[in-house]
Amino acid sequence: MSSPFSNIAFDSICCGVRLIPFTPFHFGPGVLVKACSPRGFWLTSFVVANVLIDVEVLYYLRNYDPPIHRHLHTYLGGTAMGLLAGLLMFGVVQIAVRCRPAGWRWVRQMASTTIRRQLCESVIAGVTGGVTHIFLDSLMHDDMHPFWPFFEGNTLAGVVGVGALHIGLGLTGFFGIVIWFLTPEK
Ligand SMILES: [Zn+2]
Repeated sequence: MSSPFSNIAFDSICCGVRLIPFTPFHFGPGVLVKACSPRGFWLTSFVVANVLIDVEVLYYLRNYDPPIHRHLHTYLGGTAMGLLAGLLMFGVVQIAVRCRPAGWRWVRQMASTTIRRQLCESVIAGVTGGVTHIFLDSLMHDDMHPFWPFFEGNTLAGVVGVGALHIGLGLTGFFGIVIWFLTPEK
């Protein structure tokens, strides 16, 4: 069976360019969750997962090689990138904790959380970022095969208008920031 990611008409790249989500829109739901659950949700892992996945789009756009949404824009690839982001940020935080003064509030907060729990929180946030990225993109891009390698095609493409989707994501980010600043204890 040939790959579903090949033999795509040239104009799909033009469509892809037009509908590319500005990656920060994906951060909105993460900011909202972070605002509602400040200590237990690693927003950095969520954000890094989203950025890693869209590196694929940038790579194929730069090389003018459609389709621009391939293996990383599947639930399998998105979950893998989320896992990678979670492990990456967990490692970065472990180094950062050792480089910062022990009296820092953030360092004391991290010290009060077990390593195992930190790892779980980071990985869960990363995988959440990866899975939500694929779901949100699958509403927009008809060159995606989100359930590859099990199913081909993307029946969700176009279910929600691009404008409505961007407004909705922008609002989640906006309300997340408002709640974050209004919450005294973080
Ligand atoms: Zn994407």
